[in-house]
Amino acid sequence: MVKATVKDMDMKGKRVLVRVDFNVPLDGNRNITDDTRIRAALPTIKYILDQGSKIILMSHLGRPKGQRKEEFNLDPVAKRLRELLKQPVLKLNDCIGEDVEAKIASMKDGDIILLENLRFHKEEETNDDEFAKALASLADIYVNDAFGTSHRAHASTSGVTKFLPGVAGFLLKKEIEVMGKALSAPERPFIAILGGAKVKDKVGVISNLIDKVDSLIIGGGMAYTFLKAKGFEIGESIVDSEKVSLAGDLMEKAENKGIKFLLPVDVIVADKFAEDAVVKIVGVSEIPRTWQALDIGPETRERFAQEIKKAKTIVWNGPMGVFEMKPFAEGTRKIAEALADSGAVTIVGGGDSAAAVLEMGFAGRMTHISTGGGASLEFLEGKVLPGIEGLKDI
Ligand code: AMP
Repeated sequence: MVKATVKDMDMKGKRVLVRVDFNVPLDGNRNITDDTRIRAALPTIKYILDQGSKIILMSHLGRPKGQRKEEFNLDPVAKRLRELLKQPVLKLNDCIGEDVEAKIASMKDGDIILLENLRFHKEEETNDDEFAKALASLADIYVNDAFGTSHRAHASTSGVTKFLPGVAGFLLKKEIEVMGKALSAPERPFIAILGGAKVKDKVGVISNLIDKVDSLIIGGGMAYTFLKAKGFEIGESIVDSEKVSLAGDLMEKAENKGIKFLLPVDVIVADKFAEDAVVKIVGVSEIPRTWQALDIGPETRERFAQEIKKAKTIVWNGPMGVFEMKPFAEGTRKIAEALADSGAVTIVGGGDSAAAVLEMGFAGRMTHISTGGGASLEFLEGKVLPGIEGLKDI
């Protein structure tokens, strides 16, 4: 599946509707606390502008749930965008309707308009055809550069492609290329490291990757469901009881395929889920009944790091422990460091592992940090994302 990109279209003099992800964090005074997502969209925006086009940008922000709520308007985004682009950006008060159409009709080549929050209309998330058609009627070409929402079949990511020729922006292109290559033709050894708490979000990824990887490493809260399936007593550690038997099946499948399946051999246990808990290092067969394991132990870190050293392609999704609390952050830090030092193609899924890598200062040493948590998981599950499916093939 090779999708056309902005470079495959003649955009001169055209109106180009670009779905971006400007869902930025704001403080209580509506100041943007992290503008990474706006900066990340600049290469696509600048490229389209250089073609002599008119750009119409659209995004969601927060969860207004289909209603106009001013605390979710895109005014702070427009302000930041003007500063970054050093040019005027006309921010409209809606994303469809007569006033929007009139403003777009009077655009000149090189102008930029930012539409109001798409999610002020419930039809965005229900992927309503009429709403998608109204958005599409504003332009000649559609560009999707919002990977993080591409796993959702919304009007602005999926519906709109029924009515306009659609292509990928540079951000989306990189996501598809890097993760697509890892899945279809990885340099070997190829290993996947999965962590985090929600087993049910990641079993699909494990199932898909079992057919592709050479080794699977499981850490974080997920590991205890697998350890339980192996018969270990895991005390009060987090477990998904409904997935214990599936975890056992997955390990059996890995074994039958000759895939290495690494689980923690030692852990950091705590007497409560708190920063000031009493902690100790124990082997996985010695987890006290009323304690919980909140990080991988030093022997496990070392074993995981040794496996990482051998790899040529690494996909990582989910922290190795409760990295938000200092006493349980070391396992995640050590894995991030091992990836950074590996010299392999390193792909970090969005969400918490991306946040950890950024916070711990390793971001610049990764090949690719995905901009989408849920979207990258679904991509790695082998699903065709609705926001990618409708784009033109080449
Ligand atoms: P997920 O959304 O599934 O990627 O889970 C991320 C969350 O998992 C983070 O907030 C971590 O604090 C949490 N987590 C990681 N390891 C553990 C653990 N051993 N016990 C409980 N929570 C964990």
